Amino acid sequence: MDTHLSSTSRWRPMCLYYTQGKCTMMDDPAHLEKFNHDCSWDLQVNAAEIGKKCTQGVDYLLVFDLEGKIETLEFPVLLIDTRSLAVVNFFHRFVRPCQMHLQAINKYIEGKYGKLGVDRVWHDTAQPFKDVIEQFETWLTQHQLWDKEKGGFLTRAAFVTCGNWDLKTAVPKQCEISQIKLPPYFMEWINLKDVYLNFYGREARGMMSMMNQLNIRPLGSHHLGIDDSKNIARVLQHMLADGAVMQITARRNPTSQKVEYQFENRIRSTLSILHLDVNYDYARNSYLNSPALTFDYIDSIQMTRW
Ligand SMILES: [Zn+2]
Repeated sequence: MDTHLSSTSRWRPMCLYYTQGKCTMMDDPAHLEKFNHDCSWDLQVNAAEIGKKCTQGVDYLLVFDLEGKIETLEFPVLLIDTRSLAVVNFFHRFVRPCQMHLQAINKYIEGKYGKLGVDRVWHDTAQPFKDVIEQFETWLTQHQLWDKEKGGFLTRAAFVTCGNWDLKTAVPKQCEISQIKLPPYFMEWINLKDVYLNFYGREARGMMSMMNQLNIRPLGSHHLGIDDSKNIARVLQHMLADGAVMQITARRNPTSQKVEYQFENRIRSTLSILHLDVNYDYARNSYLNSPALTFDYIDSIQMTRW
């Protein structure tokens, strides 16, 4: 299955002010011509291609792909309707680290987003994680996706991530750094790679390998969170159209905080990857003590997902 692209318009990068509700140039034709202001434009599904689709346990899937290894830098979520497979809404924010000095932040952002040409919009828009979480909860409420009064869990939706890192490691760490409690809706998720392994019977270790194997062309900038989420959503749409059923693959025990995996057959961490996990903690702690010395080291492990 391929997403349907209009033959009269070409692919354009997203306006990253627009995705965060901050574009002030919506009446400027030159700006509209240069940047995409429709998050679902390159994720449209042809109705004829979803015939094999199965009924899912939830009404919506929330594709989530955090960016930032030292601290969270970007928080993108795409809301996918499990019946039509359409992207019905999205939530996107750039996130400002709260334990790093200004000079260190500038260097970190230049290294990560400078080469993608989006460092300026990051500086213009990034907000503290705590504020982003508050806005995300308002968004969840607007879409009736959680029950704040009854425990704060998702009601009709489940998170979909590429790997366990986002919700097993990154969000809990950032909550600790930002001194907030880990919200209950982050306690379980669907690791798309595990569902992929069980559904197709073959292993794909990352988003790019899933896209390669399914013959889906990646769009946008790899490691820009909003673009990665859209590419993960393309893989998800393809799998749903092929008849895959999305089930929770990992659940955090509220008492022990230990993550319990639901699938026997899953993509497991290798020894070298476990080693990186340990090194990451070491690197982050060293960074907090002497930021200037550890950038190159962090950068060397920055691109590895586990
Ligand atoms: Zn715009």
